[in-house]
Amino acid sequence: MSKQKLIPNTFALKCIADSSIAWPEQQNQFDKNQPYLVVGEGSNILLLQEFFHGQLIQVNNSQFVVSQTQDAYIVELGGGLNWHQTLVQLLEQGIQGAENLALIPGTVGAAPVQNIGAYGIEIAQFVVAVEAYDIQLEQRVKLTTEQCQFAYRDSIFKHQTYQSKSRFIIETVWLKFAKNAQVVTEYGPLKQFAEDYQQQHGSLPAATLVFDEVCRIRQSKLPDPKVLPNAGSFFKNPIVDKQHAQQLQQQNAHCADMPIYPYSDNLVKLAAGFLIDKAGFKGLEHKGAKVHELQALVLVNNSQAKGTDIAKLAKRVCEKVEAEYQIKLQPEVRFIHEFAEVDAVEYLTELVEVN
Ligand SMILES: Cc1cc2nc3c(=O)[nH]c(=O)nc-3n(C[C@H](O)[C@H](O)[C@H](O)COP(=O)(O)OP(=O)(O)OC[C@H]3O[C@@H](n4cnc5c(N)ncnc54)[C@H](O)[C@@H]3O)c2cc1C
Repeated sequence: MSKQKLIPNTFALKCIADSSIAWPEQQNQFDKNQPYLVVGEGSNILLLQEFFHGQLIQVNNSQFVVSQTQDAYIVELGGGLNWHQTLVQLLEQGIQGAENLALIPGTVGAAPVQNIGAYGIEIAQFVVAVEAYDIQLEQRVKLTTEQCQFAYRDSIFKHQTYQSKSRFIIETVWLKFAKNAQVVTEYGPLKQFAEDYQQQHGSLPAATLVFDEVCRIRQSKLPDPKVLPNAGSFFKNPIVDKQHAQQLQQQNAHCADMPIYPYSDNLVKLAAGFLIDKAGFKGLEHKGAKVHELQALVLVNNSQAKGTDIAKLAKRVCEKVEAEYQIKLQPEVRFIHEFAEVDAVEYLTELVEVN
């Protein structure tokens, strides 16, 4: 087992793990009865303390195997691969379908955990199976898509625990892409792009063009964590009942133009960034932690904030949004304390703001 190691994270927070394990090579050094934490590239975690007193597990499987049936490609991907680079490689081989998920940071192994999604697509649409080491059973298990229980930014991997810690270490992900996959361009700014393209060329843009456009849009809208440390969307978009959303639109002057997205028969999805913006939080700073000036859904580490400073800012955002709109925001980012992950909502509720 290696000695102490800095935990990678895109908030640029300093947190040292007591030891680290390269998975699966050093599996025999893993002690499941001691604290542990699986981390990919750390693009969806908030490290609350300067030390993590446990084992940092980093998956480094990197297989990339393509096979095909008559009408689909089946791709076997190691959990340690970088997601964006994997997409690039897939497109180079003419395998399309997931181009809307371009530039999402992180590893292939972490992608099913929160069912990464963007521009109308989620990875769940392509997952055939996920192979993981089950810490409780001490054996490898292969879960089908149904067993993964994917939902909006959610999956079984967030809920099944072993002694209050994550139960599975994802090693391999199998994705299936139809050979006749069509580009998906109905969502947000991709719609205009596709319409303009179709008018000029008489056909929908190729997947590679959609990929380039997604990269362009994201680079223009989202702060680059290498320049301004952040973990992307800090909160999930809230799911509320239709009636509540309509009441807000009708009765709250700020919400007259609030976007409402269909979710299910009685439920709709709102844009958390819109609510945070309207609550007056864009650009607000607390001890180096800041609500991004252009994209209110993103909290940034503007200048040497601690993890707890970012959490305190998040708490203020939640309280204001709840007071104004009676909506409880839930962090999308995972909160890591000194021995284990903690429930983010509970942590924020109990967090005492000294100043
Ligand atoms: C600028 C920016 C933009 C983003 N945009 C999006 C977006 O558009 N859509 C979206 O869905 N997400 C987005 N994210 C969030 C993030 O990129 C994804 O959640 C990504 O999948 C995290 O990958 P990671 O390797 O960094 O995971 P980490 O942050 O290292 O880990 C995230 C969680 O997954 C667990 N985990 C990691 N690897 C494994 C594994 N192999 N087995 C089991 N558990 C594991 C960790 O324990 C942790 O709980 C964005 C983040 C940033 C910084």
